[in-house]
Amino acid sequence: MGQGFKRVLLKISGEFLSGNKDLGIDFEVVSSVCRQIKKCLDNNIQVGLVIGGGNFWRGRSSGKMDRSKADYMGMLATVINALGVADTLEKMGVKAKVQTSIHMMPIAEPFNKDIAIKHLNSYGAVIFASGTGSPYFSTDTAAALRAAEINADIILKATLTDGIYDKDPNIYNDAKKYDTLTFTDILKNDLRVIDSSVASLCRDNNIPLLVFGIKNIENIFL
Ligand code: UDP
Repeated sequence: MGQGFKRVLLKISGEFLSGNKDLGIDFEVVSSVCRQIKKCLDNNIQVGLVIGGGNFWRGRSSGKMDRSKADYMGMLATVINALGVADTLEKMGVKAKVQTSIHMMPIAEPFNKDIAIKHLNSYGAVIFASGTGSPYFSTDTAAALRAAEINADIILKATLTDGIYDKDPNIYNDAKKYDTLTFTDILKNDLRVIDSSVASLCRDNNIPLLVFGIKNIENIFL
């Protein structure tokens, strides 16, 4: 999906990184993702990355916990994933930088748009971790926010299905796949394919978002 773009913001869910495990990181899966990122960089496609944390923790599933604290746990989970992905990229010879919205030196450097862009311009990967830094948001919203800040050409959102449907294609045989949708359609019809905060950020800042199936891992580059 990266081909034809100069700078992309790739969003990968934490769930995908756990492979067939219920929780945690499957480094075979991480390596397969990183090989595709390297391919993008080798082909002069700049890659900013936002990774979810759902393979460890999701704030909204925390039961009786205080929601803000539960969300901070989720943001920390994204940092675990980011460090794992950065390490794997570095082992492949890619310069990878992790930047966090919540300051946590010496684990990673604090988010700085100018430094991130400098790094992207030298064809290193930048992983934006700890989401937006605020509870009640998702890493999809962080992807939209960082895409706007680094002036990405597009957000590439990897999903386990191969696009956006009007209902779950795993349950309904007659589910209809959308080829294109406007963000206004998503907001007006309350389609839950992306958070409304993502739809409004993308709409207001003219950032296209492409949802693609990651079961074929090569789709990241293709
Ligand atoms: N989160 C948050 N603010 C953010 C991004 C993430 O509070 O800006 C928390 C939230 O609890 C969320 C968790 O981090 O459930 C993991 O992120 P997300 O659910 O987006 O991960 P994914 O489903 O993509 O793996």
